[in-house]
Amino acid sequence: MGMHASEKKHLSARAMLSKIRAVFKAIPDPTKDHGGQKHAISIADCLMSALAVFGLKFPSLLQFDHGRDDPVIKHNLTTLYGVKNVPSDTYMREKLDLLDQNRLRPAFTKLFSLIQRGKVLEDYRFLGKYILVALDGTGLFSSDKVHCENCCERHHRDGRITYYHQMLGAVVIHPDHREVFPFCPEPISKGDGSTKNDCEQNATKRFLPQFFKEHPHLSVVFTSDALSAKVPYLQPILEGGDHFIVGVNDTGNPSLFKWLKGVEMETKRVVRGNETWELSFYNHIPLNDANPDFEVNFIDCKISNDKGKVSHFSWITDLLVTQENVVDIARGGRARWKVENETFNTLKNQSYNFEHNYGHGHKHLCHILGLLMFLAFLIDQIQQRCCALFRAAMQKAKSKTRFWRRQQSIFTELYIASWEDLYIWMVDKTHGGVTMYDTS
Ligand SMILES: [Zn+2]
Repeated sequence: MGMHASEKKHLSARAMLSKIRAVFKAIPDPTKDHGGQKHAISIADCLMSALAVFGLKFPSLLQFDHGRDDPVIKHNLTTLYGVKNVPSDTYMREKLDLLDQNRLRPAFTKLFSLIQRGKVLEDYRFLGKYILVALDGTGLFSSDKVHCENCCERHHRDGRITYYHQMLGAVVIHPDHREVFPFCPEPISKGDGSTKNDCEQNATKRFLPQFFKEHPHLSVVFTSDALSAKVPYLQPILEGGDHFIVGVNDTGNPSLFKWLKGVEMETKRVVRGNETWELSFYNHIPLNDANPDFEVNFIDCKISNDKGKVSHFSWITDLLVTQENVVDIARGGRARWKVENETFNTLKNQSYNFEHNYGHGHKHLCHILGLLMFLAFLIDQIQQRCCALFRAAMQKAKSKTRFWRRQQSIFTELYIASWEDLYIWMVDKTHGGVTMYDTS
């Protein structure tokens, strides 16, 4: 892997966390009006402490309750996360529960502009001038007992109620690269005072205008699954000046597939590694009979590998499909799995404890914690892509799980002066000039 965008100072953990802390410091304390909080611990300290829980992959918020008076943990939360006063678990939850989750948005946009400044996205160009953004919903929380004001509800026939929250993730992906970069996810939950369940489609409708406002100069190709192959979801993307590659199937769009039977499609066949791709495409066909004026371009793709396994995909796109770009567009459509695999599964299975109940709160806690988890994940992805020292420390640990476990134990046992020192220590304990010392 090249060192191109590597040692950019502003993409170090230290620089990213100090940007985030500046965003958090500007958030007004939601409990201020309730009087009496003379020695209150700041919102920034609460948010940074929660971010540290996810950054360090601690299995619960309670970890800090046990460690709050521990001089090593206090020291390291200050040097690494800028936390001045470590809140108790209960205090942190109560404060964060009252926060408007939109207050956290600038933390994501700040990191995104750092990525842009670092020219990280040059490697992520799709079809020469776009970036590819996968949109997909995922579960954040589900319980038959615990719930809050904003939980969605599923009523079962036997009278049972399941309470749940989901989030719509929007993630920069690229077919050739492993790392993905999430934008601020959109919570899927009942809004204040609403009695109706929210859904992924509504979340998309809320997500897009905010996204266009925050990133007016990005040229984006959005990719998502067949549920989005409908005019109300595609139209706003086009109106925002952007593009789409969306999965499609004959159950969702029967008339499209009926029309396609009557046309002669252009074809292309390529061999990619151990796979053979057989592509057919057709431009300018109505999406469905309810919207005859809404034309899309269609791609069908059959991939067979040398073991005889065949996979079949179909997409619609507004991009004109040609012999030259059909493979790239299909690869963009295929890359959508990365939001499932590289993002959601990582958050669920690799120590981030997404879906794990960190305490539910009454109002916003569930989403605030969800957003902080995505933010911790974004920092990790940027480091993995851009920080050679981080990668070396990861390599040394041989697996992510071992890396997080090691980082945790160093964090709780040794005084750490900086992130650089931590990673240098993880690469080579005998390295000179490390300012860490054992407490025993
Ligand atoms: Zn809830």
